[in-house]
Amino acid sequence: DTLSPGDFEKLAVLGHGNGGTVYKVRHKVTSTIYALKVNHNDSDPTTRRRTLAEINILRRATDCPNIVKFHGSFEKPTGDIAILMELMDSGSLETALKTNGTFSETKLATVAREVLNGLSYLHARNIAHRDIKPSNILVNNKNEVKIADFGVSKSMGRTLEACNSYVGTCAYMSPERFDPEAYGGNYNGFSADIWSLGLTLFELYVGHFPFLQSGQRPDWAMLMCAICFSDPPSLPDTASLEFQDFVECCLKKESGERWTAAQLLTHPFLCKEMDSC
Ligand code: ATP
Ligand code: MG
Repeated sequence: DTLSPGDFEKLAVLGHGNGGTVYKVRHKVTSTIYALKVNHNDSDPTTRRRTLAEINILRRATDCPNIVKFHGSFEKPTGDIAILMELMDSGSLETALKTNGTFSETKLATVAREVLNGLSYLHARNIAHRDIKPSNILVNNKNEVKIADFGVSKSMGRTLEACNSYVGTCAYMSPERFDPEAYGGNYNGFSADIWSLGLTLFELYVGHFPFLQSGQRPDWAMLMCAICFSDPPSLPDTASLEFQDFVECCLKKESGERWTAAQLLTHPFLCKEMDSC
């Protein structure tokens, strides 16, 4: 089946990102509701390559319950490429934090398990997400948690210049991405995803980005220094020992010491999830 822009009616804007805009749309013929991500300026060869890479990954990952489902793509007359995916109607964890406040450990154990499920699926297929953060983890009304946004991350992060324009994203980058030789060399992206997951869970628990004080504006140079030169952040004492240990296993500065997704799936913290263990 070939899709075309005329097949869809735009109902609302779901979010904006670096790459473009995500709309809630209705497929006119079937009345099915989807999310449609339209990346701007796909006539630019670099952006275009990035979007096509994103589509390729989504296509390869359709049978994982914790990765947002891909339903097709089409090109607009402007040259922009649109990606059709399942609607995650409860929004992102970033929005959830802003509207409902910090997460309980029980909730975070669920988030951790589902994201790790998605990551272990990806890593087993040699795919590193490279942009794990609250705004790229989505939830639906069945309380399913899924990883989204396979775009920007793949093509960025190799040099500091490239990072500068993406402070929000770079903040979740692991020490070895800034200084591969000092922190385990051999940057492969898999252990970097685990670092980003650790920071994400931390942020959702305390309510602000780990290396910053609450309300503090991020200063890129300061943040990079903190990530590379200070000890990894540790959770406050209000957190259970299991949770503290779990985050510690994610936030080892040496990339080789960090637990893998498969190992973390066996961590006792995940027993905090309702109805398990
Ligand atoms: P960024 O570069 O800022 O990470 P992006 O341009 O790559 O963003 P996405 O992260 O894919 O775009 O989407 C931006 C926002 O749109 C998300 O944070 C989320 O709020 C919303 N969104 C994306 N996909 C969906 C979806 N399938 N269902 C519901 N909302 C979505
Ligand atoms: Mg995003």
